Amino acid sequence: MIKRIPAADLDRLETWHKYRKGLCDSCRATCCTMPVELRLNDLIRMELVDEFERGEPIQAIARRLVKQGIVERFHQKTGIFTLSRMANGDCQFLRRDTRLCTIYERRPNTCRNHPQIGPRPGHCAYQPKEPVRST
Ligand code: SF4
Repeated sequence: MIKRIPAADLDRLETWHKYRKGLCDSCRATCCTMPVELRLNDLIRMELVDEFERGEPIQAIARRLVKQGIVERFHQKTGIFTLSRMANGDCQFLRRDTRLCTIYERRPNTCRNHPQIGPRPGHCAYQPKEPVRST
């Protein structure tokens, strides 16, 4: 069992915790409130774009996904899409009650690589699921 550790501040990297196995079990999935960058391959794996659409201009795909509210923006130079989030900042694929990913097997590479690759490699913005009670 993991000892209670203080909540990190998502916006202050110096408060992030060194990642270790099992940390996610008691975390409220703070990482799933950060912007998620996607490439076309991610979108295909997520079944948001069909394989046959590969031949289409990527801008047309981006326009459709923005219109559908799936993607909030597309950076043409890099070919990177940013996944839209809910009003409370949660990823649209995060279940509110369980704080688990609803597309875990098909999740984007950004999520697969976190926290090895990210704002502070090897660290994450751990926040306990339950508020820590002061004594
Ligand atoms: S796709 Fe899944 S793992 Fe990635 S941020 Fe969204 S809920 Fe989290």
